[in-house]
Amino acid sequence: MLKGIGASDGYGIGRVMVVVEQKLEYTPKEIADVDAELERFHNAVEKFCEHTLEQADAIRKSAGEKEALIMEGHIAIVRDPFMNGEIENLIKAHQCAEAAVEQICKMFIDMFSATGDELTMQRATDVKDIRDGLISILLGIQEIKISDAPAGTVIVTKELTPSMTAGINKENIVGIITETGSQTSHSAILARALEIPAVLSVPGALSSLSSEEQVIVDGFKGEVITAPDAAVIEDYTAKREAFLREKRELENLRGKPTVSASGEEYELFCNIGTPKDATKAMAADGEGVGLFRTEFLFMDRNALPTEDEQFEAYKQASLIMKGKPVIIRTLDIGGDKDIPYLGLAKEENPFMGFRAIRYCLKNRDMFKSQIKAILRASAFGDIRIMFPLITAVEELRAGKELVEEAKADLRASDIKFDENIKVGVMTETAASGVIADLLADEADFFSIGTNDLTGYTMAADRGNGDVSYLYSPLQPSVLRMIRRIINCATEKGIPVGMCGEAAANPKMIPLLISFGLTEFSVSAPSVLKVRSAISKWTKAEADKIAEKVMSFKTESEVTAYLDTVV
Ligand code: PEP
Ligand code: MG
Repeated sequence: MLKGIGASDGYGIGRVMVVVEQKLEYTPKEIADVDAELERFHNAVEKFCEHTLEQADAIRKSAGEKEALIMEGHIAIVRDPFMNGEIENLIKAHQCAEAAVEQICKMFIDMFSATGDELTMQRATDVKDIRDGLISILLGIQEIKISDAPAGTVIVTKELTPSMTAGINKENIVGIITETGSQTSHSAILARALEIPAVLSVPGALSSLSSEEQVIVDGFKGEVITAPDAAVIEDYTAKREAFLREKRELENLRGKPTVSASGEEYELFCNIGTPKDATKAMAADGEGVGLFRTEFLFMDRNALPTEDEQFEAYKQASLIMKGKPVIIRTLDIGGDKDIPYLGLAKEENPFMGFRAIRYCLKNRDMFKSQIKAILRASAFGDIRIMFPLITAVEELRAGKELVEEAKADLRASDIKFDENIKVGVMTETAASGVIADLLADEADFFSIGTNDLTGYTMAADRGNGDVSYLYSPLQPSVLRMIRRIINCATEKGIPVGMCGEAAANPKMIPLLISFGLTEFSVSAPSVLKVRSAISKWTKAEADKIAEKVMSFKTESEVTAYLDTVV
């Protein structure tokens, strides 16, 4: 077995086709006729662009618009006036076109590779692809035709370039194995878009695998099983069929409302960390954003983001969501989330320390600038504000007062915002659970953060392996906390969602249906799975399960029972 990085889900069973890069050999020579050589270079660029456009069209059909744009980006690079000018200068200095292209591309490849930044390093792959394309045209070399690969082919190559991908026929290619690439490389993005199982960064794949040998590509585990016997093939065939069946079933739920088997409707939102994630939420069929973790805007930089920068990010997320609800959580730093430039003091017990809403209320200018940015963005969609780590009614009141102050400032400057913006509480502390009745009187909505609620209820640090046996949302104490929060919200007539990981846990779903949760907020890849899980239960069945579960005294009894019914 060979190990790599699982970069595209699924199982592929097939025969290897080793695709080695063609040797682009030439002898650099001094040319006499500069004009003719320039013309040869320009013709090659034109031919390259024509060919790339054709490939982009092919990839648009097989993989999608975003992937086609990667190819079309090659045209922009090859037509870049600076790059062209540098190549022309070398030709004018009597170098042949091949050598000029190679030298200037190398300059760009070295420059991009040296940055250490993953995205910029991707550009180096693009330039390599362009270099090889241009030199092949100049040398009159035909490209390797992956498009001719027979059904059941597993491609093994050093690096899957966008131009190679353009030739992939989804019906025939059942797996991809490469020697380089990461989860976020072009190869991975393209493999996922084509829905072909892929294992990347397999050291020595080209030398260990040979054409025609049978392999199994496990895109989940990042494994390549070599020389599988009949039993292994049978096992993986069954896994593959189950995976494809589930995928088809989930796809049937795309665009459908989220309803239980007895017809109750739920909101199914996504958790996001950046405006770009909103695109993933939409692509995943999320019905809104139930948690925008704004810390990410504050991380990986040296100073606070300005009000304008924040406004742009919140507005962009809202525009991407096309008017669907977007719940923006105000800054939740401290505990496991450090932002070095804020200079937070080291604390004995940071999870119980000066963090989240506590820090924000003491740093009013920073907090107000975030709230103003959110309010300004609320003119562009259905935006809601949520405060993290609330433990006392005073904190909610102080936060709401600041919202009113920010509104007054904006009114005075004639800046538009949603006057009726909803302000909610993230119920994620034991205190907020216990006073959920009091908080429900003054909050517009609740969202249960089970990641922290579990930790604070059980007094078990969510990151500490030694106490992880206590850290479970299925602990009777945590379940009672969740039920209480939902009951208090329901009694006071405010919506109550859940944005912690437990919202996507299939074992929790019947319990949440029974307790009366109204909104689930989960990661983008979980959306259709949760819609499917919700659709499996009637309210009456869920009530029966919840009643039984709430009669148990230990977490092990709860899980043992749920194992038999879910
Ligand atoms: C939570 O605590 O459940 C939650 C969703 O927030 P975070 O994971 O960002 O603390
Ligand atoms: Mg939290």
